[in-house]
Amino acid sequence: MIHEYIRDVPDFPKKGILFKDVTPLLQSPAGLRETIAGMARSVEPATFDLVCGIESRGFIFGTALAHHLGKGFVPIRKPGKLPWKTETESYQLEYGTDRIEIHQDAVRPGQGVLMVDDLLATGGTMEAALKLVRKLGGKPVGCSFVIELDFLAGRKRLEGVPVHALLHY
Ligand code: AMP
Repeated sequence: MIHEYIRDVPDFPKKGILFKDVTPLLQSPAGLRETIAGMARSVEPATFDLVCGIESRGFIFGTALAHHLGKGFVPIRKPGKLPWKTETESYQLEYGTDRIEIHQDAVRPGQGVLMVDDLLATGGTMEAALKLVRKLGGKPVGCSFVIELDFLAGRKRLEGVPVHALLHY
């Protein structure tokens, strides 16, 4: 049922990209409820203390899931946004590189962390996020997505961590 709420937007943010817009899903009370319930069913809550979400749509689903499961939430942000001491990781984009950051005290060594983003494409963003959590000594127990673009094979870059998505294209 939730696939009905994903809007395809051709050529956004640039030509050739078919953007998967989740705003109709967020707007729907039933869609939002079913998405968070579905993500919750796919994980083992006893194995982690924290949910880590990637800016910016990972914040929306990650925080809702953390609240649903009674866990804490940790943001991974674009450069220069976090006010305290940070760890940084660079990753390759189609053209150039990008960076993401996490607070140095966001995860304690040995803590289990569930990683969340809205969509898995090439896997570069989540691969860098996993490195950040591991730099702090955290133990990623899984990566949860609402949507996975199977044809880009992004999960190959996340080997060693269970990957789950509610919708596949
Ligand atoms: P990647 O690092 O290639 O796996 O890209 C993942 C990130 O880019 C996620 O934070 C997504 O929100 C965003 N993204 C990539 N491709 C799309 C797409 N076709 N539609 C919506 N978001 C996308």
